[in-house]
Amino acid sequence: THFGFETVTEGEKTERVYKVFESVAKKYDLMNDAMSLGVHRLWKDVLLHIMNPQPGIRLLDVAGGTGDISFRFLDYVRSQQERAARRAARANQTPSWQEISTSHKSSDPGKVEPQQSRAVVCDINKEMLKVGKQKADSMGLTSGLSWVVGNAEELPFDNDQFDVYTIAFGIRNVTHIDLALQEALRVLKPGGRFMCLEFSKVTNPLLSQLYDTYSFQMIPVLGEVIAGDWKSYQYLVESIRRFPDQETFKGMIEDAGFFSVRYQNMTGGVVALHSGFKL
Ligand code: SAM
Repeated sequence: THFGFETVTEGEKTERVYKVFESVAKKYDLMNDAMSLGVHRLWKDVLLHIMNPQPGIRLLDVAGGTGDISFRFLDYVRSQQERAARRAARANQTPSWQEISTSHKSSDPGKVEPQQSRAVVCDINKEMLKVGKQKADSMGLTSGLSWVVGNAEELPFDNDQFDVYTIAFGIRNVTHIDLALQEALRVLKPGGRFMCLEFSKVTNPLLSQLYDTYSFQMIPVLGEVIAGDWKSYQYLVESIRRFPDQETFKGMIEDAGFFSVRYQNMTGGVVALHSGFKL
């Protein structure tokens, strides 16, 4: 397999990827904004918009790093609940999503409580999770969120547990993508959805040239200036180049056993969102 511009063994790749994210963890969020000029926030917002999660669902965010997708998920569900509550108050009705929660004992037995959504952030790297947890604490976000160290290729969860599985900018770092896809299928409930946001193949030749120049020349420089780490960012650029294009990746998801697999490009194919369902 390849790591940056070197050829390394599969075991070495996992170890080196670990070191890259261990070294960039503290500056990861800052670098993400700098490298994408803030656009990664929009890509992640689109993912949530398409997911359109309803209250009560369980999300597993693999390679979740510092928690961006899970924070957005909980925020989205909360705003859905608030909107439903406002609508119900106007109509003087009980919102349709409200059900008596079996996991919560209300102090007022007559009061209905909303079903709680849960997000699990799972990442192989303790340092990334540590930064994410600190961010969650500083935002006062503790309820409905848990942080689990785990490898996408061998997830520490039972079968049929989650309604949605997300992996954002993570799958290209996994050594055996086929194993990660099989694990995604295993932990999803029947009817559950797999969603993957990843850098992909730019379709417009002019944009492709600009993008190549920007990523090969600018990203390692930004990595050196902001995080003092040229090599890690050179790896990140190279890993994007080596990741399969939209159609090839779609085929890999189908081969893993997902149905109704489709993708949509964002920013001219700089990023693609693939999704599929477990039957
Ligand atoms: N999803 C986050 C986001 O969009 O900001 C973080 C993406 S970051 C580019 C890639 C993450 O993948 C890192 O946190 C890294 O530790 C994690 N990762 C790499 N290999 C992994 C594996 N085999 N299993 C789980 N996580 C992995």
